[in-house]
Amino acid sequence: MIIMKSEATKEEVANVVKEIQKYGLRADVSIGAYRTVIGLVGDESKIPFSHFTVLPGVKEAFMVETPYKLISREYAGMSGPDIENRVIKVGDVEVGGGEPVFIAGPCAVESKEQLFRIAEGVKKAGAHILRGGIFKPRSSVHSFQGLGASGEEGAQQALGWLREAGDTFGMPVVTEIRGEGQVDLIAEYVDLIQIGARNMYDQDLITKVARKQKPILYKRHFGAGIEEFLSFTEYMVAEENKDIILCERGILPLGKGKSYSRYTLDVTAVPVIRRETYLPIMVDPSHAAGRRDLIFDLSCASIAAGACGLIIEVHYNPVEALVDGQQQITPDELEEVIIACRRVHEAVKYRKNRD
Ligand code: PEP
Ligand code: MN
Repeated sequence: MIIMKSEATKEEVANVVKEIQKYGLRADVSIGAYRTVIGLVGDESKIPFSHFTVLPGVKEAFMVETPYKLISREYAGMSGPDIENRVIKVGDVEVGGGEPVFIAGPCAVESKEQLFRIAEGVKKAGAHILRGGIFKPRSSVHSFQGLGASGEEGAQQALGWLREAGDTFGMPVVTEIRGEGQVDLIAEYVDLIQIGARNMYDQDLITKVARKQKPILYKRHFGAGIEEFLSFTEYMVAEENKDIILCERGILPLGKGKSYSRYTLDVTAVPVIRRETYLPIMVDPSHAAGRRDLIFDLSCASIAAGACGLIIEVHYNPVEALVDGQQQITPDELEEVIIACRRVHEAVKYRKNRD
């Protein structure tokens, strides 16, 4: 990282950037209220920091130990007094802007009728963004893989329904991407691209998605530590895409015997991540719980902990859902969750030093 003197000129900053590029690295320039800070993107071991210290306008040049400096409050904080939380526009919905945002819809798109009926229901319940899985990550090859698995034509048709449902009911849309071959297709139809928990570690996929310069909903892997989650997030920000909504969706339960939930919602991750980064953090209580009777409680807890919103699976008749029926709630139940979460948000928003 290179910290410029407060009186450093534009030309001096440009000169430092040029020097960085000579070593095959990219420069992330943050112009702050106090001073300009330049972050290096790439293999820093190639950089002779002592050489940079003597360049005109440079105050300090040093190696930063954190693996996620571009998204860290600490790094960004060097350029100014207050690091604003990042507000991400998904269509015309602002995520991270203060009011909780609710993403809702079926686990999987099963038919046009099913999707439209659920879209209408979740909109009425107060949801802002419509979800619908088309390429489903499944543990068994013998289960429904999503309409995307039926080939290019099936995928396009289902994506078209998702777009149409979103436009009809006035909601931006999100769907999950599973492979690099789907990037162009999905980016054409949706406002927000979901990278699922299982793909959190897929460096090539996340980089390729980031290059589309569209907002991303990035889920934490169920076995990933927070530092690891944020380190991989940095890959996308290094592609100059800072529109990343992080999502906690449950980690592996501990110990022997029954856990009583599909995963364990790591509520602690929410305030911790808010302190580490300016990117917004959302929660998925549906996949964390794996059972519908826990959704209300986990939703309230997540909002109380500072989540910028929730992504919840909804079906008008969960027992007939082809995937994840046990954890989906009805539109009426979603409305109760949203009302309660708004009250929780009201109650905690006056707390000081949230970040
Ligand atoms: C999903 O949201 O449909 C999903 C599969 O979630 P996760 O990646 O968190 O398991
Ligand atoms: Mn699901």
